[in-house]
Amino acid sequence: MTPARLKISTNNSQPPADVLVVGSVAYDDIITPYTTGERILGGAAAYAALAASYFAPTRIVGVVGNDFDQKHWDRLSNHGIDLEGMQVDESGPTFYWKGMYHENFNHRETLELELGVFSNFRPTLPEKYKETSFIMLGNIDPELQLHVLDQTLKHTFVLADTMDFWIETKRHEVRELIRKTDLFAINDSEAKMLTEENNLILAGYKIRDMGAKYVVVKKGEHGAYLFYPGGVFALPAYPITGIKDPTGAGDTFAGGLLGYLAAVQKTDLESIKQAMLYATATASVTVEDFSCDRLEHAGPQLIEERVQALREMVTF
Ligand code: AMP
Repeated sequence: MTPARLKISTNNSQPPADVLVVGSVAYDDIITPYTTGERILGGAAAYAALAASYFAPTRIVGVVGNDFDQKHWDRLSNHGIDLEGMQVDESGPTFYWKGMYHENFNHRETLELELGVFSNFRPTLPEKYKETSFIMLGNIDPELQLHVLDQTLKHTFVLADTMDFWIETKRHEVRELIRKTDLFAINDSEAKMLTEENNLILAGYKIRDMGAKYVVVKKGEHGAYLFYPGGVFALPAYPITGIKDPTGAGDTFAGGLLGYLAAVQKTDLESIKQAMLYATATASVTVEDFSCDRLEHAGPQLIEERVQALREMVTF
């Protein structure tokens, strides 16, 4: 099925390039200050692939266990996502994460995390995936992210993301991952944790010094910074009043950003700034409901309207 895509004007007449997303596909339990969601579809790759599919043909690599419901496969394939690279491991349960939000969504705590079938996962790329140019190494064990990258043949642009759990347990591998990425995306508290630096701007520069050409530091409702060779760019978040669950906003942002770059087939600074606009608008949709529910059904028009509104917000 070909999903409805955003109309992105480009100077060339080429169709969008393909996007490869690797990352967790999960069952999440979420507790927010107002309500809870149980065993809902989550995981970095689910959010990122849905977001990227609004911009470009998207393929996904990950693993699920013996408890994964058919309806979730349909949700992904109805968005045109190529699922050939997904593995089903019947020997155990899907990755499970339980998170809780405090202080009006500004602080998140991991209550439980069970790797399940991730413990034995070794991603193998189908032949046709190896040629993908735009690669998102979504949040997952950094050793697996590196293993996927090793199998690709002609990547043009690699975006990687991580999480506190991996910084705590596999710091060395996270550092190696950063050296091999073009754009490293990380949230504010994780940037401070990784660099042991309290000033966020210095933390951003330090991550660039670790080897990534571009670093995006996501600041939740306060938007995002882009650190690039020679400067910093900042974009606010789209102003949302009805936030329900911020889970997956960062992954949606990353998937949208890479999807946009694949659509325009450019990776220069100006294109990355434009990509952040589209990524911000796409992420704003995710937080308005639990799981991928709103992202899945929002449609391209709503995202386009929010891009336009954001553009007006930041124009003098
Ligand atoms: P985000 O809110 O963008 O940081 O992403 C949250 C998603 O990441 C949730 O849906 C979780 O299932 C998933 N997740 C949580 N912890 C991990 C982890 N250690 N590795 C991979 N994915 C995770």
